[in-house]
Amino acid sequence: MKKTARRRRSFWIDVTFSITIITLTVAAIYLIFTTHKQEAAASPDKQKKKATAPPTIIETIDSNYPGIKIITETSNDPFAPYAIQYPQSIHTAFNEEVLTYINQAKANYLVIMKENKKLGMEPDGELNVSFETLTHHSGNYSLVLMTNMFTGGKAGTSEIRSFHLNPRTGESIAITDLLGGNQKRLEKLSLLVKEAILEDAALENYLKQEAVEQQTKEDWSHFQNFAITDQSLIFYFKEDSFATRVAGPPVIALPVEKVKHLLVNRFQARAVEPVKEPSAGEQQSESPVDEQAVPEEESSNPVAVGNEAVNEPEESTVKKVALTFDDGPDPKVTTQIIDTLQKYDAKATFFMLGSRVEYYPEIAKQVAEAGHELGNHSWHHPDLTKMGAEKARNEILRTSGIIEEVTGKKATVFRPPYGAVNKQVRNVAGLPVVLWDVDTLDWKHRDADLLLEKVKSLTKDRSIILMHDIHQSTAQGLDAVLDYLQNEGYVFVTVSEMD
Ligand code: ZN
Repeated sequence: MKKTARRRRSFWIDVTFSITIITLTVAAIYLIFTTHKQEAAASPDKQKKKATAPPTIIETIDSNYPGIKIITETSNDPFAPYAIQYPQSIHTAFNEEVLTYINQAKANYLVIMKENKKLGMEPDGELNVSFETLTHHSGNYSLVLMTNMFTGGKAGTSEIRSFHLNPRTGESIAITDLLGGNQKRLEKLSLLVKEAILEDAALENYLKQEAVEQQTKEDWSHFQNFAITDQSLIFYFKEDSFATRVAGPPVIALPVEKVKHLLVNRFQARAVEPVKEPSAGEQQSESPVDEQAVPEEESSNPVAVGNEAVNEPEESTVKKVALTFDDGPDPKVTTQIIDTLQKYDAKATFFMLGSRVEYYPEIAKQVAEAGHELGNHSWHHPDLTKMGAEKARNEILRTSGIIEEVTGKKATVFRPPYGAVNKQVRNVAGLPVVLWDVDTLDWKHRDADLLLEKVKSLTKDRSIILMHDIHQSTAQGLDAVLDYLQNEGYVFVTVSEMD
């Protein structure tokens, strides 16, 4: 009995064992077979889709710019990973132009990576495409794509390529449109670009002279790759085309004041220039301010917080001064200014442009986190006294909106661009209107030493000092200014802390 039972049990064990092994084998064969089949099925259109195994993820989201969607494609294929981001719209011609470029970039990369894989090279590649949207008051968007490709081994390559779209009309512009196809203007432009290249400190030691001549010859094709904003006309060149050892493709930006006479009407600066100095109104500055501010605020004491002039008798013994910075944030200058202020434990007020807060939300956040007061300086820097109440209100509301959205804090004061203010502007502002009494004219002289001179000669107790956190010279001169004011016994306050 015992023997039989044991034999029977071992018989069943054998059977179970065999079944298990057979099942596993079948499963393994099946798996191998189906994987091969999938690979085989995928290979015919490999050049379009890309390798099989890991999935490609495609995502579409709305951008911050009306009419532009962001398409993101990512592949985690270890042999050819990529992350590609590009704009699309409702306009077919634009979409196809961008897609053609993207598909070409992708194909170039995948071909090289496939070749590397065949050669048995370690997977060590990456393709990244990202883009930014630069706006212009004409309604044109410059969509600037930056492509970085690494295919293993040597350093990668970078390329910048711009596309243009007016999302409302579908129109795309070329450099010929900006200059009205005028050959004379092209010649002038090419000289300006050459000059800017030769003056660019970052390129200084790396320029290839003949190549500069060559690349800036008056030929439309040299200037096709451009972007236009309300501040500048920007040209992108090929990496290594005329400068060696410079990180990335050279970017040459001409300030709008320099090129405005070359541009056809609708691409010139917006028509809300101040009356007296049409030339000054086109730049990002408070230039016409004195003239503008004086009629509204008494010139002897144009400082206003809310609707009350500041003329308190000087009871307290503490001297106060409020430093204010307009037209930012700027990724470079603003951060330098924050650092310098911190060194002196000084709090200041930043009157920001909504459009720039949208571009540089991280910088706006840094300003807020450093404890400075946040001011609204409109969205686009227009003269608000020259537009309808609704439009003006919108400039201000939109700016307060983005400031709160990115910093989590509210803008507490408002400074009108150019200091141009009237009853209507005060009414729609919804915030205390703050001007200034010390104009450093930093936007004009761009001179760190002169900044200090201006402050020395004009500052008194309870002064509000106007500067701009978009000029390198201002960041450079600030340390000396703070040092001087501190030695003079001034305490640094924000404009709302000024009593
Ligand atoms: Zn301004």
